[in-house]
Amino acid sequence: MQIRLWGVRGSLPSPINNHEYRGKLKRVLQSAVEKKLSSADDIDSFMDSLPDEIGHVFGGDTTCVSVRSNSGNIYILDAGTGIRRLGDELMEGDCGKGKGTVNILFTHNHWDHIQGLPFFRPIYVPGNTLNIYSPYPDQKKHLENQMNPPHFPAKFEDTLSAKNYHLLDRSPSKVVELEDDLKVSIYPLKHPQGCYAYKFCQAGKTFIFATDTEFTGEIIENIDSKTDFFKNADLLILDSQYTLNEAFLKVDWGHTSYTMAVNCAINWNIKTLLMTHHEPAYSDDILQENYKLALSHADMLNNSTTKILLAREGMIFDL
Ligand SMILES: [Zn+2]
Ligand SMILES: [Zn+2]
Repeated sequence: MQIRLWGVRGSLPSPINNHEYRGKLKRVLQSAVEKKLSSADDIDSFMDSLPDEIGHVFGGDTTCVSVRSNSGNIYILDAGTGIRRLGDELMEGDCGKGKGTVNILFTHNHWDHIQGLPFFRPIYVPGNTLNIYSPYPDQKKHLENQMNPPHFPAKFEDTLSAKNYHLLDRSPSKVVELEDDLKVSIYPLKHPQGCYAYKFCQAGKTFIFATDTEFTGEIIENIDSKTDFFKNADLLILDSQYTLNEAFLKVDWGHTSYTMAVNCAINWNIKTLLMTHHEPAYSDDILQENYKLALSHADMLNNSTTKILLAREGMIFDL
């Protein structure tokens, strides 16, 4: 499986602003002066040496993750604004010729997880097929509602691709075989109006996507007494929107602190934890600061098994 991140921001698209851009640029130039950069030939290696918070942006698009199966089929988790760029890339292949098949799986229908769909170009091309998977019986209605007048000039049902809706069984023990050797199952999460985690297994590797969820010590204990759904995954992408203080102030808002995300990953023996659904009010500097605190928290727990990363648009993981 290949997992690729197209949108990692929570709640609302949050592009970098001019003030933050200028701050990054200033620090890049300071670094160039310190490292005595003097030749254009050295620019790429200089840029590769920059720390993440100034060498990259974490990204402002809302949630979208693609899973490319070992046979090359594409499965998209959520249609936040990140799906726009994914659509542009797919249009360069079969989707641009009206011969594409795209599978989209929805965790829930909050706006930041569906709002990119009207800008996903493959839906407008006749001949393309959209397979829509969801645990919600009224998924079709939710996708249509956001494009109904006066919200958008084209109705979803008038777009020219074919749509097939697949209702997923909500039982975590139910495993769906999407294709040979690629299995998916789902697990209900604590979130206003609900949300589901997705687990993909192929060729002995496991990837779990658990966005928009409020984990607490009590909830983890309750899950562990019932199931090993989350245990031993190779990659867990997990909601880590808040600081611990914020999580105490925002009980029942449906998101997890980065501290609790680290607890979850270590408790479940996860190989790689990727913290996502970044708070829209947080600059890249704040995200990086929280990331360092998350690493310190993991050190305090004597973590030696779980690699902890901060989600950034464009990241690719091969499992
Ligand atoms: Zn969300
Ligand atoms: Zn949500």
